[in-house]
Amino acid sequence: MSTQTHDVLDPSTEQRIASIPLTSVEETDAAIERSHAAFQDWRQVAPADRGRLLRRFAAVVDGAREELAALEVHNSGHPVSSARWEAGNVRDVLDYYSAGPERLFGRQIPVAGGLDVTFKEPLGVVGIIVPWNFPMPIAGWGLAPALAAGNTVVLKPAELTPMTAMRLGELALEAGLPDGVLTVLPGKGSVVGDRFVTHPAVRKICFTGSTEVGTRIMARAAAQVKRVTLELGGKSANIVFGDADVEKAAASAPYGVFDNAGQDCCARSRILVQRSVYDRFLELLEPAVSGVKVIAPSRDESEMGPLISAAQRDRVAAYVDDPDAKVDVAFRGTVPEGPGYWYPPTVVLPRSTTDPIWQEEVFGPVVAVLPFADEADAVRMANDTQYGLSGSIWTRDVGRALRVARGVEAGNLSVNSHSSVRYSTPFGGFKRSGLGRELGPDALDSFTDVKNVFISTED
Ligand code: NAD
Repeated sequence: MSTQTHDVLDPSTEQRIASIPLTSVEETDAAIERSHAAFQDWRQVAPADRGRLLRRFAAVVDGAREELAALEVHNSGHPVSSARWEAGNVRDVLDYYSAGPERLFGRQIPVAGGLDVTFKEPLGVVGIIVPWNFPMPIAGWGLAPALAAGNTVVLKPAELTPMTAMRLGELALEAGLPDGVLTVLPGKGSVVGDRFVTHPAVRKICFTGSTEVGTRIMARAAAQVKRVTLELGGKSANIVFGDADVEKAAASAPYGVFDNAGQDCCARSRILVQRSVYDRFLELLEPAVSGVKVIAPSRDESEMGPLISAAQRDRVAAYVDDPDAKVDVAFRGTVPEGPGYWYPPTVVLPRSTTDPIWQEEVFGPVVAVLPFADEADAVRMANDTQYGLSGSIWTRDVGRALRVARGVEAGNLSVNSHSSVRYSTPFGGFKRSGLGRELGPDALDSFTDVKNVFISTED
């Protein structure tokens, strides 16, 4: 057994809620080998039965929704209403991909002299590496399609947030998934995560996390031509045109960036406002920001909880409160008194588009606002970043909405709203925000390899 442990803290109280053993390299190897052995049987399970097991898993998750939500409130500080949605999202993604096994169609391709067919073969063991910001949904987006396609899964939650993933591993067994089909291994990225990348029996890495770590994983995976899906950082733009419903755009802007206290890869952390409505927008934004309910996450009305850790709060504060940061704070919301890693929703006015606050992913409740002149200027400013994950466009002109949506280099855009994630539509990034797509009808393809078989019909 592992001797090293990690204390898991409640970020809203700073109290220890659990002490979790950290999986060693040897234990990781043993788990990968068990997963590899389980794969030989799992891939043979009849498609209808594999689908049935995934639906049963979804039903068990649904039954445990309140329990999972409560675990996430304490482990991650997510508002309870968000945590309930997250547990429900795991259920929905399992249900959605439970239809996969019976619909993993190949093709029949016309050729001379015989029959040509393709099969979508599972890859083997898939390693899923999860960050701390959305522990449940991100685990589900990887494991559900991976299992549906006939792979087995080893999954490593982030050190800070292992609780719900560990419970999901138990629920899978309760639902009747065979032993070794889904294995959750809490531990360090540099130990467990790195072993997923280097172990030859792990055939694919599904990584969600920082661009820095994702870049290293891609380079290391190249040594084995190991498949990777990468969901990385973002610095998304919320573009508000003068012809938009400016009241609505301002009222919803805080929720496009302060969800999960800004620790959201899709956070619209740059607001670009057409100069003609810039002053009016800021006037309307101030009450909207102070209206965000930053209170104990266990309360039903809570809209924003604390940051995940003291280190994350220091990192965020350094972007704004350090005198060297040279950032002008326009206005701020409030936080509760007492313990917890709280940081108030904060609106800043950068001095230049080269400022770190405009270019770097802060991953906290800080949003920067700048004016733009016209449509071309807005697209140019939105694209002036290494990232390309998400973004919003506010306008009443349909033609403009489409032109700008086509012009912004990002994988997930929304017009007159801030929605970006639906389990039935593809999700992923352009540029250094990632590689490949999760969710939607095509995600199963990235968990299979295509095999082509020619059968001669000659006598
Ligand atoms: P991180 O990169 O530090 O860690 C992510 C995961 O990788 C953790 O489980 C960690 O233990 C593991 N890891 C760390 N070093 C590793 C290594 N050398 N080898 C293998 N695994 C290793 O990221 P984080 O701080 O947990 O998460 C925040 C980041 O995740 C942000 O940049 C955010 O934008 C990004 N994110 C992206 C998406 C998306 O879908 N695009 C979604 C959520 C979060």
